[in-house]
Amino acid sequence: MLAYRAVAVLALFTVSATLDAQRSRWFRGNTHTHTLQSDGDSPPDSAARWYRDHGYNFLLITDHERLTDPAPLNAQYGRAGAFLLIAGQEVTQRVADSTRKENRQAHMNALGIHKVVMPQGTNGVAKDITMAEGYRRNIAAIRAAGGIPQINHPNWRWSVRLSDLLAIPDSTLIEIANAHTGVNNLGAANADGRVVPSTEALWDSLLSRGKVLFAVGDDDSHSFRPGDADDYNLTRPGRSWIMVRANTLTASAILGAIRRGDFYVSTGVMLSDLTVSSRSIRLAIEATGSDDRQFTIEWVGRGGRVLSTATGREASYQIRGDEGYVRARITDSNGKHAWTQPVVEGQRSRVKGQG
Ligand SMILES: [Zn+2]
Ligand SMILES: [Zn+2]
Repeated sequence: MLAYRAVAVLALFTVSATLDAQRSRWFRGNTHTHTLQSDGDSPPDSAARWYRDHGYNFLLITDHERLTDPAPLNAQYGRAGAFLLIAGQEVTQRVADSTRKENRQAHMNALGIHKVVMPQGTNGVAKDITMAEGYRRNIAAIRAAGGIPQINHPNWRWSVRLSDLLAIPDSTLIEIANAHTGVNNLGAANADGRVVPSTEALWDSLLSRGKVLFAVGDDDSHSFRPGDADDYNLTRPGRSWIMVRANTLTASAILGAIRRGDFYVSTGVMLSDLTVSSRSIRLAIEATGSDDRQFTIEWVGRGGRVLSTATGREASYQIRGDEGYVRARITDSNGKHAWTQPVVEGQRSRVKGQG
């Protein structure tokens, strides 16, 4: 007997697959954006316009300690069923560490909040708590404000370690593909001899310990002015995003699907099908006839181990039951990716119950 859950993805698509598949569609969105309300270089209007005009369906403006009311922006830039702004904020937590010259960074995004969440300590610097405690308090505060917590750029300033995240609750989001130019997604062996895993490997380490965390990709965009495109150091929009499956484009439908894990991450590989059940995962890659990219699909399990590899535009994986979890990483011949959320071992009964 297989004992798997795809958390809520499964609940949706095992039990009432046909009905939901007919009604639902994919919405493209960015969950991390800065404007002149904090350290971005353009007003919220420029950000809203850019994303609306470049094929996105939803956008969260997430300035540091600033909640931008989406209502007036939606009145101006929103389009029913096509483009929607959703409330968000970055909680800019820093934690003092006597073993380092600089504070450690424990930023989080808060998706869908109804009030600002202030970081712990004075001016965003907590001097008397651990990183883990900082995350615990901020996740609780974000949830109390009605939001979904997202761990931001773990490798920025080489700040976050696995041990800092062992107590975070299931369904927290973790950025594995923040597109900012300075966030060290791939990890490194540092000058002090410490080997820092990639953000994707960090996610695998947490999944391998039984946590059910959903990966996110986003822009962390700061630079919208036309001339910004000439400077490769600036973080322009449009590089990393999520595709969320929902029946309708409303804040509650999008946030609900994110909470359930019914989305995938993309930096340029798009899926035309993603069908998840407790026994199998099937996917198809969107590509036109003249598109000659080659695709490699890797099925990844416990410890980040590659369970099997396929090439082509379609692949499926039959779940055996001993993988710990199963997720897909798709890489194209230009280095672009898609990552699907994990189907996690255990609690299959819960999945049935959710139907
Ligand atoms: Zn940040
Ligand atoms: Zn940011």
